[in-house]
Amino acid sequence: MKRILLIVVLLVSLLTVPALADGGTAPKEIYTVDDLLAVASDPSGSYILMADIDMNGVAWPAITFTGTFNGNHHMILNLNNAQVSTETRVTYDGNRKTYDTHFAALFAILDHATVRDLRLINMDNTHTFEGDCFLGTIAGFASESTIENCEISGTVRLDVTGKMFGVGGVIGFGNCVVKDCTADVTLINIDLDKDHRDEQFLGGVCGAGYPDIDGCTVNLAGYISDHGYVHSGGLVGMYIVYPQRFSRNGYIKNNKLDGFITFFEDNSDRRAYCEARCGEIMDWQFSDSGNVYHFTRDERRTYTVNLLPHECETPDYNDVTVDPSCENPGYTAHICKTCGYTYRDSYVLPKHTLSETYDVIKEATLTETGIGEFTCTACGAKIRQELPMLSPTPTPTPEPTIAPTATPVATESVAAAPSDTTAEKDQAKDNSKIIPIICGILILASAVLLVRIIIHAKRMKRR
Ligand SMILES: [Zn+2]
Ligand SMILES: [Zn+2]
Repeated sequence: MKRILLIVVLLVSLLTVPALADGGTAPKEIYTVDDLLAVASDPSGSYILMADIDMNGVAWPAITFTGTFNGNHHMILNLNNAQVSTETRVTYDGNRKTYDTHFAALFAILDHATVRDLRLINMDNTHTFEGDCFLGTIAGFASESTIENCEISGTVRLDVTGKMFGVGGVIGFGNCVVKDCTADVTLINIDLDKDHRDEQFLGGVCGAGYPDIDGCTVNLAGYISDHGYVHSGGLVGMYIVYPQRFSRNGYIKNNKLDGFITFFEDNSDRRAYCEARCGEIMDWQFSDSGNVYHFTRDERRTYTVNLLPHECETPDYNDVTVDPSCENPGYTAHICKTCGYTYRDSYVLPKHTLSETYDVIKEATLTETGIGEFTCTACGAKIRQELPMLSPTPTPTPEPTIAPTATPVATESVAAAPSDTTAEKDQAKDNSKIIPIICGILILASAVLLVRIIIHAKRMKRR
């Protein structure tokens, strides 16, 4: 009876080990590009980033994410190939006209999801698209989600033929809480269709929608070339209750904005919405306090040349390479000697300076890699790295001149000679076992042969 009880207790404790105190299960750990890509196959899961990841050139699928993503203060670097969703969500303009809209970002769509403590560095979300589309960095579209304590840098550019489109420094469109984030972003939106009077949106945090924005720092360089209606703001392009009949008081508080929007609105019926906080406010259902704006509204009246960051006629660059540090990525800065315009590229992951010695956490063998724990000589961080598999020592080829009878002792001493690696020691151990056996067999065979010869000789003598 006691034994059964013990087994029951053991089973119960085993079953409850992976569950956390809050009733959830432990988040899936992300160490590699493949781990990150696997989020697409379980988009409602809970994840934690365990390493900085370079996504340069990796095709990143459009994900409708409904889980929790904890960046754990690590970075996703060079996300420059995020696909536009085939899945759509309804967006609407200031006249409540609806559009089935496509999205691209780290998460094309966030739905009742949380993203926090993530560094999304040097993202390049550039697309040419036919149709209605919004691009962001963390999310293209967000509904009832939270984005908290994220650091974002990069470029979002949409060249588009559509009726409803826009770009945002954190999210493209929707409602969501954006809290304690920093966004250092260049946003570019070019309308390729000169004949249609479309609805265009741009915001340092959100293109259009009903976001709560609290404690964010935004550095914005915005460029809009539109042949329709521009709605642009340092924080939000158009503040509109979304979805319709959505009831909640929003807020925009304690944010810092530094930036400018350069734009043209090629339209006989010009409104040219462009303000530091929100370009157009459709629904005044939010509180506003403690915001600091340094903002330049730069409207142009030439509609023939699309507006882009570098307008210099004689660009001439000075290149400066910055090495990665323990915390920050390395990059190359290109500074125009003519006008001072600067852009950065060739980003590489942060790098610790590893000690020469390390503690072995798991010994490498002939068939498996090991794990060593190094110390960073710059910041003291403990860094675990894979130790390569051991390579087998090549078996020494016997000298053909030496007589076979003379080899056993000599071979054994060679094999047992002190060696540096475990592989060599293992090899030596194997040799030391096999050789005496062979010698024994040889000696036994010789003895049997000798006895037979003697017996044979005696018989011959008798005859
Ligand atoms: Zn220049
Ligand atoms: Zn370090």
